[in-house]
Amino acid sequence: MTLLINPATGEPVDEVPDSTPTDVSAAVQAGRDAFTQWRDTTPADRARLLLRLADLVEADAEELTRLEVEETGKPAAVFRDGELPFAIDNLRFFAGAARSLDGTGAGVLSAGYTSALIRRPIGVIGSIAPWNFPFIMAVWKIGPAIAAGNAVVIKPAPATPRSTLRLAALMAEAGAPEGLLQVVTGGADIGQALVTDPGVDMVGVTGSTATGRAVMRGATGGLKRVHLELGGKAPALVFDDASLADMAFGVTMGATYNTGQDCTAATRVYIARSRYDEALEALHAAMEQVRPGDPWSDETDIGPLISAAHRDRVNGFVTRASGRVLLGGKPIDGPGFYYPPTLIADADQSSEIVQGEIFGPVLVALPFDSEEEAIRLANDTPYGLASSIWSVDVARALRVAHQLDVGVTWVNDHLPIASEAPHGGVKGSGFGKDMSQEAVQEYSVVRHLMIKHAAPEARDSFRPA
Ligand code: NAD
Repeated sequence: MTLLINPATGEPVDEVPDSTPTDVSAAVQAGRDAFTQWRDTTPADRARLLLRLADLVEADAEELTRLEVEETGKPAAVFRDGELPFAIDNLRFFAGAARSLDGTGAGVLSAGYTSALIRRPIGVIGSIAPWNFPFIMAVWKIGPAIAAGNAVVIKPAPATPRSTLRLAALMAEAGAPEGLLQVVTGGADIGQALVTDPGVDMVGVTGSTATGRAVMRGATGGLKRVHLELGGKAPALVFDDASLADMAFGVTMGATYNTGQDCTAATRVYIARSRYDEALEALHAAMEQVRPGDPWSDETDIGPLISAAHRDRVNGFVTRASGRVLLGGKPIDGPGFYYPPTLIADADQSSEIVQGEIFGPVLVALPFDSEEEAIRLANDTPYGLASSIWSVDVARALRVAHQLDVGVTWVNDHLPIASEAPHGGVKGSGFGKDMSQEAVQEYSVVRHLMIKHAAPEARDSFRPA
């Protein structure tokens, strides 16, 4: 059994049984059986299931909010009015995407033959999810895989399994064949059992870069397809013409949303030196207004960190940091694992606080002297997931955006996402895209079917025509 702790109180809320390696094999086998039916469904069948699921999720909003908030401590209003409707929109998008999979083109590519390019599902997908957005991450893993015709066995993070278990129950209620979506629970060992199971054809993980490596290593024996959404260390580049009031609000939101436990969080703000002090003041004023508190209160902007161990890890980064701590920098007294918005100026670019993924509400500010330097510093970490540019000069924003080694760049904002747009990174942030038509394509394989025009006839040569 795993005891689930409410991070806002430090008190237990529930317990969930742990799967065994035998449970994993049984789930994979059931997934294989379901796949043999599901792969032959039409796009319309798949879309119908996902649309029904979206409706059931919508009707279950209160219960899903309770489960998610109890386990993560995130503000209830943020989940119920923001993340949950977005996840529902994701499901409805995947329902539509199931009906417009590319690769069905046909043509005469060699004289005398018609070629058809057909997208087929891959098989059983072993998916592994993190604890920061448990419900959305489950939807991002399950939606495109089911839309493309696969079966899924998913392992949520050990601290946050219940909204995924609930999603699987709603999937069954929506009419999914038995075994199409299954949940296994547990930690890294159960994750590895899933990754290495010979009945799993493809593995996907959203998690840290170290976990991505472990999953990729586990997948090599079976030469499985791998889909990796890993860590981030997003820079925000503030040029001398930026609206500092707008920037301070947007970067603060980017740095503190979900208490900074967001792979696309704004974590490093590079500011044109001519406006450095002014920008620091604006950021200080904005970050000071972010209200940590009770997740069930409407006055709360951010909840606690996920666990006491994670709070201590975040605090360790801050206490070891180079530079000046301008705001925050110490855990908030309990109950709960709260950490305040923290602003640090003038850290060394090569130091841990600038290079490492902290996963807390900690923003580090550094000055730059030229556009080239801003780009170089932005690209100078092992990660490449997200970034933002703050400037009213469109030409500069475009020029800089094209030189950032990342999966997404926002201009004059930081964080918004859309179901139609791919989410995923480069470098240490992994590869593979969540959301968008790209995700559905990644859970499918293109095949070539080549049909000879002429009727069968006597052949007189073993050489190709
Ligand atoms: P984590 O890497 O500790 O765990 C993620 C999942 O992997 C969990 O379910 C865990 O049990 C499992 N796991 C851990 N070790 C494993 C192993 N060796 N083999 C198989 N499974 C294993 O990550 P976390 O702490 O749950 O989440 C935070 C991380 O997730 C951060 O690095 C964050 O940036 C990343 N993240 C990335 C994205 C993205 O889209 N790129 C989105 C959200 C979170």
